[in-house]
Amino acid sequence: MTPAPHLRLFDIAVLSGDGIGPEVIDVTVPLLEKLSRNQDWGFRFQSYPGGALHFKATGDALPRATLDAARSADAILFGAMGWPEIRYPDGTEIAPQLDLRIELALYAGVRPVRAIPGIPLPLAAPRAAQIDLVVIRESTEGLFASRGKGEVIDDAEARDTMVITRAGSERVFDFAFRLAQRRKRRGHPGRVTCVDKANVFRSMAFFRRVFYERAARFPDIEARHNYIDATALDMIRKPWDFDVLVTENMFGDILSDQTAGLVGGMGMAPSGDIGDDHALFQPCHGSAPDIAGQGKANPTATILSAAMMLDWLGERSGLESMARGAERLERAIDAAFGSGRLRPYEFGGLDGTAAIADAVASNL
Ligand code: ATP
Repeated sequence: MTPAPHLRLFDIAVLSGDGIGPEVIDVTVPLLEKLSRNQDWGFRFQSYPGGALHFKATGDALPRATLDAARSADAILFGAMGWPEIRYPDGTEIAPQLDLRIELALYAGVRPVRAIPGIPLPLAAPRAAQIDLVVIRESTEGLFASRGKGEVIDDAEARDTMVITRAGSERVFDFAFRLAQRRKRRGHPGRVTCVDKANVFRSMAFFRRVFYERAARFPDIEARHNYIDATALDMIRKPWDFDVLVTENMFGDILSDQTAGLVGGMGMAPSGDIGDDHALFQPCHGSAPDIAGQGKANPTATILSAAMMLDWLGERSGLESMARGAERLERAIDAAFGSGRLRPYEFGGLDGTAAIADAVASNL
């Protein structure tokens, strides 16, 4: 059928990758197709190869054609890439997602966590049900700037160097403040916490100084700071007090796994790697070799990542109805789990990938 002339079609590059990546992507794409039915927007999905198994077969983890397609697409939907036994000659894991962050300048690693009704939480109700925060991980520099460049000297000493730049920090802080403004319009407190170690490292003191310089441009948003160690503690004692947190790459890597744990685990944690011109959406988890091929993967994190993609595309293109589509998808997830009967394997249940996706679809 020829699409209606007013239909806005978005090109989505689908990089399913390894292990459970294809399993969770394969059930998410039909949900997006269902959601776009009878809307004035739609999608053209196109799959591209990449990942550890592709590296094993061809010697290339991220083919040029895949990178070009990712660059020219409106957005990238990504499963998971990597496999413990398949590694580069220097012993590091295959991680094209890290290369994409640099290649496409995806500087803001956005990791929202929200307590979903019906999902067992490690912290006690009723406060735990109020958890709704976003960790923004700077994703192009920090300690990860040393990836592939660290050195081992005479087998006696090893060094990796942290890099914090003014430009890299300013853009991620501005992103965090703009996100807090957007969330404030939706009823959140409008607060950004800079998470650092400014009491010990010059790089971190610089990071915090730039944070407050940028904060002055967003007077409607409350700016705070907290040390990374204190934040780890507060994340257990009172995570409901946080709104938006922004932090260095390595701190964000660790903190966002901790926050995923607060709402049930990796199968529940979505993410977006967002830059000024491109964005990639993927679950926080990896390829999970231990459960791959068994239909046990929880696709919720990927479905939530797809909702983030809708929201981002809607904001960029000025299509309000896309943001509403994102809300519909989130509400369908809440309704699916809200009954309390749906129980993924990772919570000791017997509901696998297909059952969870079906439950979400029937609530759309
Ligand atoms: P990476 O370093 O690539 O992010 P990882 O080593 O942290 O990956 P994961 O692949 O995320 O590891 O898996 C960690 C654990 O979480 C495994 O036991 C895996 O089975 C489980 N897990 C990850 N994702 C899911 C999911 N979607 N559903 C159920 N369990 C999951």
